[in-house]
Amino acid sequence: MAAAVKELTVKEKLEQLYKLQKVDSKLDEIKIMKGELPMEVSDLEDDIAGLNTREAKLKEIIADLDHEINQHNHNIKDSEAQILRYKQQLDNVKNNREYDALNKEVDYQNLEIQLSEKKIRKSTEEKGTKEESLKLISDKIAIRAKDLEAKKAELASIIEKTEKEEEKLIKESDKKRKDIESRLLKAYDKIRGSYRNGLAVVPIARQSCGGCYNQIPPQVQIEIGVMKNIIACEHCGRILVDEQFIND
Ligand SMILES: [Zn+2]
Repeated sequence: MAAAVKELTVKEKLEQLYKLQKVDSKLDEIKIMKGELPMEVSDLEDDIAGLNTREAKLKEIIADLDHEINQHNHNIKDSEAQILRYKQQLDNVKNNREYDALNKEVDYQNLEIQLSEKKIRKSTEEKGTKEESLKLISDKIAIRAKDLEAKKAELASIIEKTEKEEEKLIKESDKKRKDIESRLLKAYDKIRGSYRNGLAVVPIARQSCGGCYNQIPPQVQIEIGVMKNIIACEHCGRILVDEQFIND
């Protein structure tokens, strides 16, 4: 049994398109409400991830410097212990050769101490610089994290309020699209996609196009009203309807 294909009148086609437009416009409104928030949230997340990597790297460098400084302090203590031992041995030297050899060792350990002290100063200075950078980055992370938290909360509250409505509208839009002939739907999508406000079907308002606000000649207004043909605005190409003759 073949399904009966009912040929729609132009009026019915226009009504379908206009109803679809109303649903799609409501979806657009929700999108506008969310605005740039989803993008801003993901940008902030990327930003924080990058800063966290830099923070971890700096902490690693500081730990390495600490390790180096500890190592040098340890070396100094070793040298000092050595010197103490040599000095005790100096009290019991038997000849000049032994005396000179011990004094040379003491001089050598003193040089080692100076070298370690120099390296400690250098590493401590470098550590200070790295700690300053670390503080700047940690502060930045804290600020971004706070910002992110606020934006996420704002977005979550909008989503919570609009989620059900959006779901319902998407279903409604899909359902309406199924009843519209593909040629018209293609035209509708094309016009809708070419305007930021997403309006493809607009009513006449004050004798003008509801999309671009250009005046519509009286003869064309009458043609729109009788709905024998689908009429597009000669200025912006949007499909025009006269709301007073359209059934909602
Ligand atoms: Zn127009």
